[in-house]
Amino acid sequence: MNMMLSTWSFSEPILNAVATNLGDSASALDLVETCARMAEADESIDSVGYGGYPDAEGRCTLDAAVMLSPNQSGAVCAIERHKHPVSIARLVMEQTSHTLLAGPLADAFADAHGLESSDLLARPSKEKWLKWKEEHQPTETLAPYDTGTGKLFGNHDTIGTLAIDTHGTMAGACSTSGMAWKVPGRVGDSPIIGHGLYVDPKRGAATATGHGELISGICSSFLVVEL
Ligand code: ASP
Repeated sequence: MNMMLSTWSFSEPILNAVATNLGDSASALDLVETCARMAEADESIDSVGYGGYPDAEGRCTLDAAVMLSPNQSGAVCAIERHKHPVSIARLVMEQTSHTLLAGPLADAFADAHGLESSDLLARPSKEKWLKWKEEHQPTETLAPYDTGTGKLFGNHDTIGTLAIDTHGTMAGACSTSGMAWKVPGRVGDSPIIGHGLYVDPKRGAATATGHGELISGICSSFLVVEL
């Protein structure tokens, strides 16, 4: 039987649907990619894919990664025109000898592989951003916590999924729109191998969600697997 683990409650119906629809013959990589794709397509998930909250200037940008082993990983960051960054990350892993493509040239790479281009900013997210903009300056420093209330700033909830298939192969994928209202250009932990995702077939796998700057500071996923 396949085994899957995924972050956040929004993953639960996704895991159930993927387990039912893909069944036990699916590879671990297909399982984790499909979970991320479903979250990316779901407009009601405001921290992943289409429907994700934008940066401080109203631009929605996406990050994602996939990993099978230290020698087999792919990632993209700052995607602006494609709904499924996780599939671009998989193409990077399978079709190039690189691990990370960034920004408009990563979008162009997706175009070249026939992936459909689309607008990423859903209407509810645009409305939330317009409201945020009324009360904030896009240039103000974004702290991880509101020092007054102690509440985490903005919203940010990556989908990170790990799977082991019936052949015993492990795979991981993660996908996020990053931190809401981020400084344009900001990239968090998710597309950085070892930070938001790490898979070592001989040892284990981990994926991270939360404040990317804190996660990256200790290379969290790598550290957890190593420990
Ligand atoms: N770690 C992601 C980021 O900082 C967001 C999250 O998982 O909450 O971009």
